[in-house]
Amino acid sequence: GDQRLYLGLDFGTSGARFSAIDKDGTIQAEAKREYPWYKNGETQDWVRSWRETLFLLLEDIPLDVRKHIVSISIDGTSATTLIVDSETGEPLGRPFLYNESCPDALPMVKSIAPPNHTVCSGSSTLCKLVSWWNHVDSNKKSAQLLHQADWLLWLLHGKLGVSDYNNALKVGYDPEVDSYPAWLLRQPYSHLLPSVVAPGTPVSCLKEDIRTKFGFQNDCVVCTGTTDSIAAFLAARVSQPGDAVTSLGSTLAIKLLSNTRIEDSRFGVYSHRLDDKWLVGGASNSGGAVLRQLFTDDQLEKLSEQINPLEASPLDYYPLPKAGERFPVSDPNLSPRLLPRPENDAEYLHGILESIARIEAKAYELLKEMGATQVMKVFTAGGGAKNEKWIKIRERVLGLPVSRATHTEAAYGAALLALRGANQNIL
Ligand code: ADP
Repeated sequence: GDQRLYLGLDFGTSGARFSAIDKDGTIQAEAKREYPWYKNGETQDWVRSWRETLFLLLEDIPLDVRKHIVSISIDGTSATTLIVDSETGEPLGRPFLYNESCPDALPMVKSIAPPNHTVCSGSSTLCKLVSWWNHVDSNKKSAQLLHQADWLLWLLHGKLGVSDYNNALKVGYDPEVDSYPAWLLRQPYSHLLPSVVAPGTPVSCLKEDIRTKFGFQNDCVVCTGTTDSIAAFLAARVSQPGDAVTSLGSTLAIKLLSNTRIEDSRFGVYSHRLDDKWLVGGASNSGGAVLRQLFTDDQLEKLSEQINPLEASPLDYYPLPKAGERFPVSDPNLSPRLLPRPENDAEYLHGILESIARIEAKAYELLKEMGATQVMKVFTAGGGAKNEKWIKIRERVLGLPVSRATHTEAAYGAALLALRGANQNIL
């Protein structure tokens, strides 16, 4: 038939998923795989695991879905960095993972970047690049930096050296002026930086050998991707400035679509570009991890049933799994406050849920004070999203409509990027 489907792949921290959707956003197929464990010396061979998982996932797509796929995109973990040979694309050493820190490079990065720039964090892509540059003495001329998603997409399209402005933010790319800043281009390693286009831009057709081996559509294109957390936001399909997504997983992460760009490294607040708008984000250490320390998921469900969400709890806590908070309070020594604990566990849980809701409210308030668009509507993702009582409590505390997002999988967001790219001209 002439059905056209769009494929998104999400490469997360422990495994990868795919989602294939039609033009209306209806899911036609989806599946996930854990990364296989391969050893390279003492450590996990991530590159081999990712590559193998990519092709295993392509095989997992049912044949009758695969043959209709006309566009593919991929998201990966933010700041996961590969330095590859610019001729062959093969990695020159093991990748730097998203959460890896290169404090050795921080003084040099701080000396070249503006104060409090996003790159001024040990785990930024730029710190990883500088650390590599300082420790390696061969291959420097023929090296190319890629993010995890860029490299996986390269396996599919074969054009080396292309990235998107979401992935490239932490290497120093300026999405507002749409170029690398002069202070970065002056550096001796600037030839390693990939060229940057908008997320969801078709880079090239799917490589012929892959297309025929797996049986994708003739004109199937491969589009630039984004980071995993942005892909998860895109999945919720919010489009109005003032729309936000609160993710209640182990931590409490908020993302707000704003007309204005705001940054404040003290609070870990920064903005990603999304077309002509900004995706403002910040994360609190409060959230589900504290709940898990105190209750099982089963207990959470049972105790929540006993809560009247329309009634305000008199208990005032600052729930944290351990000392230290970043946003909306910047205090590395802030102690968790979870006392006094009432006899009744449902009352205790009510107080905790309501206190986390107050942290959420304060977080949106702070973004507004920093200059972001006022939040109007909140969608929710993560394990805490299934708690209807909590949603009601949050509506009362935030004074806003709160609802569960229909889609929250990053792979779904990547599929939406593929859909968007399918209707554009190839680079
Ligand atoms: P992660 O960030 O680890 O991916 P998830 O999105 O899977 O987290 O969410 C897991 C969290 O959800 C746990 O910390 C757990 O405490 C919380 N959670 C699970 N069930 C409920 C519930 N009914 N109400 C509130 N929180 C819940």
